[in-house]
Amino acid sequence: MTEINKEQESNEPRGLNFVEQEVYADLQAGKNGGRLNTRFPPEPNGYLHIGHAKAICMDFGVAEKFGGTCNLRFDDTNPVKEDVEYVDSIREDIHWLGFDWGNREYYASDYFPQLFDLACRLIKEGKAYVDDQTSEQIAAQKGSPTEPGIESPFRNRTPEENLDLFLRMNAGEFEEGARVLRAKIDMASSNMHFRDPIMYRIIKHPHHRTGTTWKVYPMYDFAHGQSDYFEGVTHSICTLEFVPHRPLYEYFVHELADETYCPRQIEFNRLNLTYTVMSKRKLLTLVKEGLVAGWDDPRMPTISGLRRRGFTPQSIRNFIDTIGYTKYEALNDISLLEHAVRDDLNRIATRVMGVINPVKLVLTNYPADKVETVTMENNPEQEGSGVHEMPFSREIYIERDDFMENPPKKFFRLAPGAEVRLKGAYIIKCEDVVKDAEGNIVEIRCTYDPDTLSGMPGANRKVKGTLHWVSAAHAVDAEARIYDRLFAVENPSAEVDRDFRELLNPESLVVKTVKVEPFVAQNAAQGAKFQFQRIGYFTPDYDSTADHLVFNRTIGLRDTWEKLQKK
Ligand code: ATP
Ligand code: MG
Repeated sequence: MTEINKEQESNEPRGLNFVEQEVYADLQAGKNGGRLNTRFPPEPNGYLHIGHAKAICMDFGVAEKFGGTCNLRFDDTNPVKEDVEYVDSIREDIHWLGFDWGNREYYASDYFPQLFDLACRLIKEGKAYVDDQTSEQIAAQKGSPTEPGIESPFRNRTPEENLDLFLRMNAGEFEEGARVLRAKIDMASSNMHFRDPIMYRIIKHPHHRTGTTWKVYPMYDFAHGQSDYFEGVTHSICTLEFVPHRPLYEYFVHELADETYCPRQIEFNRLNLTYTVMSKRKLLTLVKEGLVAGWDDPRMPTISGLRRRGFTPQSIRNFIDTIGYTKYEALNDISLLEHAVRDDLNRIATRVMGVINPVKLVLTNYPADKVETVTMENNPEQEGSGVHEMPFSREIYIERDDFMENPPKKFFRLAPGAEVRLKGAYIIKCEDVVKDAEGNIVEIRCTYDPDTLSGMPGANRKVKGTLHWVSAAHAVDAEARIYDRLFAVENPSAEVDRDFRELLNPESLVVKTVKVEPFVAQNAAQGAKFQFQRIGYFTPDYDSTADHLVFNRTIGLRDTWEKLQKK
């Protein structure tokens, strides 16, 4: 190694992931005139999911890090599956994650003319031919990794005949599936992608941008690298399944590029998460069959679903930082994502009271017509977040689970004769319970110690339990949508013998009524983040109105990931 190389190595910024190292090395070597331009290339055939977020953080992140730019390119080469609804949602989701492509919004369909010209050139040069066989016949001739493929009987057509047929394919003379354009490379290549890959197929469905201009559409492998080239992309960062496509990417790109500029593909491991699926086809099935309420159903792993559920962009970015980028496929634990959102919401959510499984509690020695206000801290984790007031009165609600008539040892909540503190208010003592004819507890009767409110002599008196509560007369009923994981099995994609729909978790949505303090009702604007103390993090759903409040539980308080780490 030369001295210069050593010096360059020691100058490399610390903590780069392997893709960033490659990019850095290219920049140091002055490749592409020292330019850095990445791209994020979604196909507008579905909403973005958390896996795409990983790619977005990489594509935009590396450009940001080294002063480059990142294009947004819609990979719209299949009009049958694509739609403007998806284009709009993709834009919104990337912005929400905190990234911006400025005026660099492109479409693969912008390059249809150039791609078509290139295809015609390759035909003239004897590097492409029209095949009249069906896709089944072509597939059957592909061979296997150990056996060479069989050459098509149409492989040796003259360039003139090929060009004539290709132009007529695009003129709409032939039906879909009747003919394809193939690259003439090597049916015996050890790389299956080189065995005369299909470049163009006939599609007669109108395109959402180009209408009926085209009757032939390029395949991914013929469109992607060249689109990168036409756009000036220097680093085409994608996921590992494209490793075997890379030689073909280079083969086509070299038809255009020279030594001054050539885009380069680099691959990283895709994100797979437990208890969910990442396949757009499967997510679309869930939406189409009504198995979820839409692409933005809060149980979906989509960016829009996570947003609706109450996830923050920061929590998603933190999660992606934590899992990192490697060259090996893996399955990441969803509890790590849950940990990330809990961590971020702990920092920003306003602490409030909501009782989700209420039982009435009467303070027999508190005057019937008296109402006091007690002061609650908005967020002990955040200096300057202030306080809010909460009404206190003779009749309140507490959680049913916070009372036991015959408690085991170490039950520090409420029980006959026991004392607890009502969070932010008085210490109370249970004197009696009232039951209905079936023996269900309908009311807990207590006395309160008037000396124990903040600022009073008994304010610091210690009792073991502290309960959350709301004043019965002031509480507002709200719908609480409690979500659990979408699938009941850890790795739904691995259950190849079962229909993935059978693996859905039947408990993934449970609807309850929660009694919330008035402050919550008054501040239930879209995007508000609350911690219902001792229950979890909640955010108003899009369905929420002033007359009918609806909250999504983003995540409970219990952190299974943290527990695993402590073991
Ligand atoms: P399909 O091609 O089947 O429609 P896709 O998930 O690959 O699905 P694209 O819209 O092509 O969807 O993806 C855009 C970009 O996002 C690609 O560069 C792809 O590599 C990346 N991407 C997709 N899924 C993941 C994932 N799970 N983890 C990381 N990156 C992903
Ligand atoms: Mg794709």
